[in-house]
Amino acid sequence: MGKELTPYGVALEQLKLAAEKLNLEPGIHEMLKVPKRSLTVSVAITLDNCDFGVFQGCRVQHWDARGPFKGGIRYHPNVTLDEVTALSMWMTWKCAVVDIPYGGAKGGICCNPKEMSRGELERLTRRYTAMIFDLIGPYRDVPAPDVYTDAQTMAWIMDTYSQIKGYSVPECVTGKPISIGGSEGRAEATSLGVDICAREAAKNIGLKIKGATVAVQGFGNVGWNAAKIAHDWGAKIVAVSDSAGGICNPKGLDPYKVYEHKVKTGSVAKFKGAESVTNEEVLETRCDILIPAALENQITRSNADKVKAKIVAEGANGPTTPEADRILHEKGVILIPDILANAGGVTASYFEWVQNLEREHWTVEEVNTKLEAKMIKAFNDVYKQGKTEKCEIRTAALMLGVRRVAEAIKTLGLWP
Ligand code: NAD
Repeated sequence: MGKELTPYGVALEQLKLAAEKLNLEPGIHEMLKVPKRSLTVSVAITLDNCDFGVFQGCRVQHWDARGPFKGGIRYHPNVTLDEVTALSMWMTWKCAVVDIPYGGAKGGICCNPKEMSRGELERLTRRYTAMIFDLIGPYRDVPAPDVYTDAQTMAWIMDTYSQIKGYSVPECVTGKPISIGGSEGRAEATSLGVDICAREAAKNIGLKIKGATVAVQGFGNVGWNAAKIAHDWGAKIVAVSDSAGGICNPKGLDPYKVYEHKVKTGSVAKFKGAESVTNEEVLETRCDILIPAALENQITRSNADKVKAKIVAEGANGPTTPEADRILHEKGVILIPDILANAGGVTASYFEWVQNLEREHWTVEEVNTKLEAKMIKAFNDVYKQGKTEKCEIRTAALMLGVRRVAEAIKTLGLWP
């Protein structure tokens, strides 16, 4: 058996599969395999101890045939160009699947934010923004939060960009605090989208969300909000985890209380009234719906067979490897792929950008109603594609996304 693929290796495998099924022209396939533009930067900052620190970062722009580039910025010790490239490609397909006018991009800095002060993170963010300044902008490439970056990070990016421009440009970034042009509902949007997809998939197998059992890997922005929304809909959260470990209670956990515990102690681990489990055990929990909402390559050929959920809704990007995909499919598990399941985040980001460009501010009800309509339409489009092609949902979603992007490239043609 070969080694597990890197994230970019996984993304290329997925593209190959979609290209074969779509009979994609070899030239278009070649174009889509590689990003249009990648910039690597060495971000030097003054550390709190007055020494200099240097951090490797990048911004990768995959394809923009359907609109400006769009994608998050990740701060993590394992960030690599390979990973960011894969994430940029997934963004291209994701924006096409939910049919919003963006191309795919992603950025990242290899650093450990948990060991950095707020001042260091601010200097890192501002310096990185200055170094990728020529690539970004409201009509070029619009960053957003990802792992270990948040609304505050976006505020620093907006301010740095605006200071260089000489005027305020809220539309240069999304996922901002509401006080400076952020959208209502953006913080929960990815998770609401994940839960809507899980609910729609559940309907197809006669399972009601009310009373369904749910396990969530990762208790950050996506995981905590997905657990909270599912809990509010009447589902029972039976297990959750974060980087420090997992907890489980078949009778149900109150995600609000788990969140309070995490805020106090820094982790969900050691929550009273729950059994301690490993991260792996959370993925293998007996439940109806499993939401991986941490990082890539979590469900692999070595544990896919142990997944007991009926539905896997990918809150994270790339949590399941292609081999694990096949195993889950053979077991009859319904897998809602990342490019559909977590597309609520970029959809709400798109709403934020539209509001900024129009100098408008929508209510949370308006945002959520529009989001729900987009997610249900995308879910049904993908399901229809799967039925027509007699394939599983990931391939159907990839086919839909790749086809839409390929059509745009062909329609535009190449210049010069
Ligand atoms: P986050 O930084 O808020 O949370 C990440 C969580 O994962 C943390 O709780 C962390 O402790 C946990 N974690 C890290 N390593 C882990 C491990 N090995 N096992 C279990 N848990 C682990 O990040 P986020 O914004 O919630 O993003 C999570 C995933 O969702 C990422 O794959 C991201 O690309 C994807 N995503 C995020 C958004 C968004 O709007 N934030 C949108 C689409 C996709």
